[in-house]
Amino acid sequence: MSEIITGPSGLTGRVRGMKVREERILADRKLAKAGGQVDELLGACWEETLDAGPYDFGDKPIDWGRVLQGDRFVALLKIRALTYGPAYAFAVGCQNDGCRARIEWELDLCDLPCRPLSEESRAAFAGGNRFETVLPDADKRVWFRLLTGADERKIPQLRRGAGDKLLSAMLAFRVVEVEGVDARERRQFIEELTMRDADFLVDEFDRVDCGVDTTIEIECPECFATQDIDLPFDRTFFMPGKERTARRRDRSTSFPG
Ligand SMILES: [Zn+2]
Repeated sequence: MSEIITGPSGLTGRVRGMKVREERILADRKLAKAGGQVDELLGACWEETLDAGPYDFGDKPIDWGRVLQGDRFVALLKIRALTYGPAYAFAVGCQNDGCRARIEWELDLCDLPCRPLSEESRAAFAGGNRFETVLPDADKRVWFRLLTGADERKIPQLRRGAGDKLLSAMLAFRVVEVEGVDARERRQFIEELTMRDADFLVDEFDRVDCGVDTTIEIECPECFATQDIDLPFDRTFFMPGKERTARRRDRSTSFPG
């Protein structure tokens, strides 16, 4: 079963659900460590590109490393929905300290709101992935970029290496130029930013970006507290049958012969 989808940037193509042979991709530990699983999966299930949107791949097939996170994620959700259906069930702990109940939740992946890439952002992306803004406190122009698949693969390593300087590491990763500041001094400049400027910058990253909003509101069935959570994506997202498989394996080994 395949379907034509359009990502938030306008990238349009035909995707299919996963086949059994793609289990190899999900089970490959080396690939998981290198962050290549998502690319492999997208590569396997994306059958053809019908409209490249803001991307220029020339005569070559789609290069997922150059595709915006928003488009990648929409394609992944669709692959998941085509494979196992749009219902996604997960469990999280209630955030109310006096409760801490386990909340079982289920939602339709196709109902998650998706923000399209604006015309302005599309032009900035196509023009070299450079977005301009002015920091209110520092009163300087800065240019930053939207994250693509290639960036996504570097983030786990960036997190590990950042220690307690995660915010400045993330900002430095995305800021490509600061007005009047030499590239070698950029990191130092970012460390000296006021928190208000840093906050402003993160808001700007979000404002010009596109994609699926994965913050959802849920209600605890025990204490009825409503809470915003970031949709968890664990192993069951692409292998909802994994627990079942484990059970079956246990059963078969417990019978002799
Ligand atoms: Zn609760």
